[in-house]
Amino acid sequence: MPAGFPDFRLGNVLATSFTGTLSERHGDAIERIPTPQRLVDWLRVNGLAVDSCTPAQLERARELRESIHAAATAAATRAALPAAAVRVINDCSVQGRASAILAPEGNRHWQLSSPTCVADALGVIAADAISIIAGERDGKLALCASPTCRAAFFDTSRSRTRKWCDMNTCGNRQKKARFNASHRKESSS
Ligand SMILES: [Zn+2]
Repeated sequence: MPAGFPDFRLGNVLATSFTGTLSERHGDAIERIPTPQRLVDWLRVNGLAVDSCTPAQLERARELRESIHAAATAAATRAALPAAAVRVINDCSVQGRASAILAPEGNRHWQLSSPTCVADALGVIAADAISIIAGERDGKLALCASPTCRAAFFDTSRSRTRKWCDMNTCGNRQKKARFNASHRKESSS
């Protein structure tokens, strides 16, 4: 596995990063993996390098993504988990055959059974989603406070009071909106 992949222990949660590849779900949705190659690129920077991806594999990946989103949203709001979504997550987890590899420097890497095996990569993502939804990891599932986003994210802050899926996007936009609103009030008074 080549060096230079981000370290997931630094708060980058694989499953919710993956659901974040469709952003602004409740506004003008932005698809960040519109082509198989874009999924290959995303998997590479997330430590799951594959050589190629077919349109069918991309479709399966998106199905997994939406299933994780649905199940994580239900978990965050303490609703019953949607059965169809749970089935897709479990199927993907069962079909993946990636192995956890301990690197000499102490990091965990994923070794896929073959470089073309997108299913292995999806299995890793599905297992990550299961560990979060099952409440096994230190953190809390929550929904982004932005009304056009409502992304499920994993809050690992000490106080568990994070409001936005991402400070650089939703958090910043909210701050700007608040600033503009107060500015308007000042100039009108
Ligand atoms: Zn958001």
